Amino acid sequence: MGFEPVGQVMGTSIRTPLRKKHVQCGSYSHIGLIRRRLDPYDRVLKALVAECVALDAEGVIGITVTTRDLSIGIEYVAFGTAVRSATGRTEKPFLAHLSGQDFARLVVAGWIPVGIARATSLLAVHGVRPQGNGRSELGWQTEALARSKDLARRDLVTDIARWRGEGFVMATRWSRHHERDCEPRGSADIVAESFFLGTAISPLPAAVAPSKALTIMRLT
Ligand SMILES: [Zn+2]
Repeated sequence: MGFEPVGQVMGTSIRTPLRKKHVQCGSYSHIGLIRRRLDPYDRVLKALVAECVALDAEGVIGITVTTRDLSIGIEYVAFGTAVRSATGRTEKPFLAHLSGQDFARLVVAGWIPVGIARATSLLAVHGVRPQGNGRSELGWQTEALARSKDLARRDLVTDIARWRGEGFVMATRWSRHHERDCEPRGSADIVAESFFLGTAISPLPAAVAPSKALTIMRLT
């Protein structure tokens, strides 16, 4: 299955500023505020699919999504290269963050990208602010971060399944946390967030039967 570039494609979307709503103490959220943070991704990626179809291409590779602060909100811009196969057609247009070289490696290894998968999580873990005991504070932060990563990972598995993907190539991941005051006095919350973005992949039809386990590919 050989592919050749057809042209550059682009999608843009603007997200109005989110209202600063509190994450409830001791809770986590996959919905509402946090979900809305992913909406612009979906919109710019849909725009890429539309341009891909208009070019009669089969997929878009090398996708980058950048953000820019504007007075009316945050602008999301996605770029990619539409590609077409000389030999066969895939079922649906596919999206991948992979470079041309990594895409070629993936296809040679018997896999095809199916779509961009992403996940996010946000949660607040309540605790009593430690008095001069650095070690227990560290444990508290570690617990919040670990739970946030675990929630995002579960969300990611769901998103990969949405694409009927059987593997995943990571593009970006980050986790961060901050502390805030909470009631009663002396209490605080650690607010932790995690984000994953990458390409869901599926075995090429001719390839040998895939393993049941989700494969995380390392291409380099
Ligand atoms: Zn609290």
